Amino acid sequence: MPIDRTYRDTWNVDVKTKSYDIWIAKHAEGEIHGSIVGIHLESCIGCMKCVNACPTSVFTILREDMVVVPTNERDCIFCMICEMVCPTEAICVDKHVGSDDTLDSLLGNV
Ligand code: SF4
Ligand code: SF4
Repeated sequence: MPIDRTYRDTWNVDVKTKSYDIWIAKHAEGEIHGSIVGIHLESCIGCMKCVNACPTSVFTILREDMVVVPTNERDCIFCMICEMVCPTEAICVDKHVGSDDTLDSLLGNV
């Protein structure tokens, strides 16, 4: 089950941790961790592809659950690689937070 990409408008913040918010919804199962980089924990299979791909080490693994959380979401540079590599579509990055030229900057095109 992929992440609900409307969650920032349709789910509610249940807990605010010092790193990120945790979202829940009455109409849906599970939790989404993160507001800039959201991960639907029930969709994550702990494959580590996002952990290995992220250039700014946004993700950490919860070993007891074998799922990934966006501990350093404020370091996201909106390259969108994590969404591309995730096999279960568990991740939704808020592209609107980043500037339009973030990827160009990453690639050295500006
Ligand atoms: S969009 Fe890029 S920088 Fe942001 S969490 Fe995903 S891989 Fe990391
Ligand atoms: S790539 Fe997707 S399934 Fe794999 S650890 Fe990251 S969020 Fe979980």
